[in-house]
Amino acid sequence: MSRPDYDVAIVGGGVVGAALAALLVRQARIDPQRVLLVERELEDGGTIAPPAVDAPFDLRVWALSQASRNVLRAAGAYDLLDSARVQPYEAMRVWHEGSTAESRDALRFEAAAVGAVDLGVIVENRAVQAALLSGCIAAGVVPQRDTLVSLTQSAAAVQLQLQSRQCTAALLIGADGAASRVRQLAGITSTERSYGQQAIVANLQCELPHQQTAWQVFLDTGPLALLPLPGNHCSLVWSMIDARVPQLLELSADEFSAALTRASGGVLGRLQLTSARAHFPLRRLSAQRYVAGRCVLVGDAAHVIHPLAGQGVNQGLLDAAALCDAVAQRPPQEDVGALRLLRRYERGRRSGNALVGGLMDALDHLLSRPPDMAGRLAREGMSVVARSALLRQWFARQAMGTAGEAPAAARGVFS
Ligand SMILES: Cc1cc2nc3c(=O)[nH]c(=O)nc-3n(C[C@H](O)[C@H](O)[C@H](O)COP(=O)(O)OP(=O)(O)OC[C@H]3O[C@@H](n4cnc5c(N)ncnc54)[C@H](O)[C@@H]3O)c2cc1C
Repeated sequence: MSRPDYDVAIVGGGVVGAALAALLVRQARIDPQRVLLVERELEDGGTIAPPAVDAPFDLRVWALSQASRNVLRAAGAYDLLDSARVQPYEAMRVWHEGSTAESRDALRFEAAAVGAVDLGVIVENRAVQAALLSGCIAAGVVPQRDTLVSLTQSAAAVQLQLQSRQCTAALLIGADGAASRVRQLAGITSTERSYGQQAIVANLQCELPHQQTAWQVFLDTGPLALLPLPGNHCSLVWSMIDARVPQLLELSADEFSAALTRASGGVLGRLQLTSARAHFPLRRLSAQRYVAGRCVLVGDAAHVIHPLAGQGVNQGLLDAAALCDAVAQRPPQEDVGALRLLRRYERGRRSGNALVGGLMDALDHLLSRPPDMAGRLAREGMSVVARSALLRQWFARQAMGTAGEAPAAARGVFS
C-alpha cells in the first residue's frame, strides 16, 4: 500500500481548523508539507484580509478565554492581532431582570479575585481567523481554497474528493462547522434541537463607560449580553424567542436602541445602535461520536451550544489543543490516524463538551422564562453563588478556561 498524500487533511479553515493546522506543525512536529488545510472561502494567497485599521467593528466577535488566548499564542497567531482591536475584559456581571446589576443577588466575577489581570479578551472572528491563517502560512502550511465534496475510507487512508482534485490522507479532521460535510460523509449521526430563540447581534455606543466588564441580564425572553469593545462601544448578543424577532428587526434604529436601553435596565445608560443588525437561529447539536475510522470531528462540527456564556469557540479551541496533544504523545512511528489515538482525544473531550453544553441549556431553561418553582430555585441558586467568594472564584476560573485539566497549549505549555 503506497503512503497517503498527506498525514493530516483538515476540512474547514475557520478558527478551530486553522488553529489545529498550525498547532500540529508547531506543537506536534508534523511536517508542514504533510498537512493539508482546505477552506472554501479563502482569498488569493490562502488567507483572508484582517479588518482594516479604521473599519467599524465586525458583528461577529468572540469572548476568548485565557486558555484560548494561550492556544492562539501556541499557534503563532496572537501577536499578529492588531492590539487596538482587542478588548480585554476584567469582570463579568450577571443578573436576572427581576433584580438589578447592582443588587446583592447579581453575580460578579472578577479577574482580580483570582489574581489575574483579565478574564479574557473580546476580539473579532475575522481578525482571529486571519491571524491563524497567517500563522499556518508562517508554519509552512499554505491553506488551499477548495471544497470537500465526498470521501471514501479504507483501512489505510481516507480518499478525499475535493472540488478541484482528489487526494488521500492518513487522518481526516472535520473542522467544517455545524453543517459539517465530514460528519455526514463519515456516517456520524447527531442529535439536534432548536432553542426556539434567535441571537440578534449588533454593535452599540454606550452612554456610560463599560468598565471592561461583560454584562449579561437574563430576561424572560432570553439572555441579553453586552460585551465591551474598544472606546465606549459594546457588542450586543440578544437571544430572543423566535416570535419576537421580526418585530425587533422591523423597529427603526432609534426605536431598537430605546427598546434595548429598557431591556438592559439602563445599566450602561442610553444605548445607540451603530451597525446593521444580524440574526442567527440558535440550536444545540451533539455528534453521537467524534470518531469514525480515520475521520475525527472538532469544534462546531462536533458540538454546537447556546452562545449565552460565549463558550463555542473556546470549546472548539480546546478540542484542537487536545487532538494536538494526542498526536504529539503517540509513540514514534505510530500511524497518525490510529483509532487508539483518536479515541483518546474523544474520551478526553466528549464528556467535557457535553457538560458545558448541558450547563448552558440548564441556565437558559431555568433563567430565561417567567418564574415558576424551578425558575425561582435557579434564581435562589444564583444569589447563593453571588454571596460566596469561593463559588465566585470557581466560576471565574471556569470563564478563564484555566480550571481542571487542560491540554498543553491551553495551559501555555509550548514546545
Ligand atoms: C450569535 C452567536 C454568538 C457567539 N458568541 C460566541 C462567543 O462569544 N465566544 C465563543 O467562544 N463562541 C461564540 N459563538 C460560537 C461560535 O460561533 C462557534 O462555536 C465557532 O464559530 C465554531 O468555529 P468552527 O471553526 O468550529 O466552525 P466555523 O466557524 O463554522 O468554521 C467552519 C469553516 O469550515 C468551512 N467549510 C464548511 N464546509 C466546508 C467544505 N465542505 N469544504 C471546505 N470548507 C468548508 C467554512 O467555510 C468555515 O470557514 C457564538 C455563536 C453565535 C451563533
